[in-house]
Amino acid sequence: MRKKIVAGNWKMNLNKNDSEDLVNNILNHLDDNFSPQIIFAPPYLFLNNVIELCKNKNNIFVSSQDCSAYTDGAFTGEVSAKMISSYDISHVIIGHSERRKNFNETNDILNHKINQAINNHLNVIFCCGETLSDRNNGLYFDVISDQLLSTVLSLDKSKFSNIIIAYEPIWAIGTGVTATADQAQEVHAHIRRIIKDKYGDAISNKTSIIYGGSCKPANAKEIFSQDDIDGGLIGGASLNYKDFISIIKAF
Ligand code: PEP
Repeated sequence: MRKKIVAGNWKMNLNKNDSEDLVNNILNHLDDNFSPQIIFAPPYLFLNNVIELCKNKNNIFVSSQDCSAYTDGAFTGEVSAKMISSYDISHVIIGHSERRKNFNETNDILNHKINQAINNHLNVIFCCGETLSDRNNGLYFDVISDQLLSTVLSLDKSKFSNIIIAYEPIWAIGTGVTATADQAQEVHAHIRRIIKDKYGDAISNKTSIIYGGSCKPANAKEIFSQDDIDGGLIGGASLNYKDFISIIKAF
């Protein structure tokens, strides 16, 4: 049975008080038996506060939004995977399109980050997704295959078990335009197929593949009901506790 996941990527939003209010509101409004794993990905500065608030809560995890490609040393401003894993942090997001585009993160850099994360026992939420022009030109399967085969799908089989894939069409991120459930399912099935070609049926059936891109209460249920969609990576809607709770309840 694959893990169902709802992860909130707060990006560079909120302040200390807002972030604590957000987590407290979510925790106070969760049903006792909520079903998906919940992952909070706050900015580095708030990670420890979120960890404290989520201590001893079942099925709630904390993720970093990034990690350094380097192990340690003279890299001012960087935060290493080793530092992250010395806290109660279980996941790290790698390969978000905002980092690829705004910080020029190449596949080579991403591979260093993935290795740092795995060597430090972090689960990786690895993002992939096509631009609008890739989609309009019918190139999206190739683009996504290429993004994955050059990174997480070049790992040894034994290391791939720590990987969650997030399909995030760039044209849907922060735009209010969501992929239809059919569009998302088509790509998720493609991703599962290429995982199967590389590592076999058992691993492919075990890998959680989550959708991100303007996922909100109004569309979460339909998206999450697709066969190959195991949850969501939520940006904007994760900053509002009512929306985030509704998305969790969409399972
Ligand atoms: C994201 O950036 O990971 C994301 C899915 O953002 P949004 O939900 O705001 O489109």
